[in-house]
Amino acid sequence: MRSVMMYGPGDVRTEEREPPGIIEPTDAIIRLSATCICGSDLWPYRGEEPLFRTPQAMGHEYVGVVEQIGSDVKNVTVGDFVVGSFVASDNTCDICLAGYQSRCRHNVMMGSIGTQAELARIPLADGTLVATPGQPDRDLIPSLLAASDVLGTGWYAATAAGAGPGRSIAVVGDGAVGLSAILAAKLLGTERIIAFSRHPDRQTLASAFGATDIVEERGDAGAARVKELTEGYGAHGTAEAVGTQESMWQAIHSTRPGGYVGYVGVSHGVELDGLQLFFSSVHLHGGPAPVRHYLPELIQLIWDGSIDPGRVFDLTLPIEDASEGYRAMDERRATKVLLTF
Ligand SMILES: [Zn+2]
Repeated sequence: MRSVMMYGPGDVRTEEREPPGIIEPTDAIIRLSATCICGSDLWPYRGEEPLFRTPQAMGHEYVGVVEQIGSDVKNVTVGDFVVGSFVASDNTCDICLAGYQSRCRHNVMMGSIGTQAELARIPLADGTLVATPGQPDRDLIPSLLAASDVLGTGWYAATAAGAGPGRSIAVVGDGAVGLSAILAAKLLGTERIIAFSRHPDRQTLASAFGATDIVEERGDAGAARVKELTEGYGAHGTAEAVGTQESMWQAIHSTRPGGYVGYVGVSHGVELDGLQLFFSSVHLHGGPAPVRHYLPELIQLIWDGSIDPGRVFDLTLPIEDASEGYRAMDERRATKVLLTF
């Protein structure tokens, strides 16, 4: 099968590799309908995060059709169209039942398996996979794929930031997750949604998804602008979808005392000064999003045509051209790249 492999920073190749088979009786094998490149794949691409192994099979987002199931799998069957999270989870342990499936006691990071491929082994299939109500139309596939990570992650960020009626929510990060957080905040009834963005195409999509204000300044200047827009206090909550030192303080400083910061950008080199944090008086809640928790609801919203998160994909390439997809995202020529077979 064709699969995307990373050999080192800037070195991505599409190669033939052995198709996966069932290892555990709780596994399923799916044939992917489409896959995609994540902003987090850029960390190793830029040499800012080590590979698990060399070469490393890439990818952790997936939708597709179940091709084979292990002997213990009961909740999905061969032929089902399924969506799963970027973390496999049993969905039965106490951590899962509390709504934190991405930190399941038996979690498997799908990035360690690699889903930028024609086939993928899904561990803990009963807990991980959610079947759609039927076979989707071709045009729903990008949105269902977005639900596998960026939409669910944006949803978690917006929820953790306290999005809802009567609230003002700022969103740091105009990548696919930040844009999805805007969409989520809008759907959750948020009154004012302030998007940080300097990129004209992303500003347009942010507005289409529900942003009421666009702020181009960054860092403390950006936070000061949010305070101006919110009677001097800052937003009720801020979704942070970048993961750098600057973005984290930008989020905290954009938030009023007693407010909420939902942080989902994978943290790289962030160190928070305790005293500054102490006097910010904000709630911090984040981490890897429990996408599985939201999947049934998100799939239904997509199925009903209530949301169209697939619009975050602005470049579609055949899997053979994955290396160009990585380059386009690295150079910010593309927000998010869909790979087809
Ligand atoms: Zn669990």
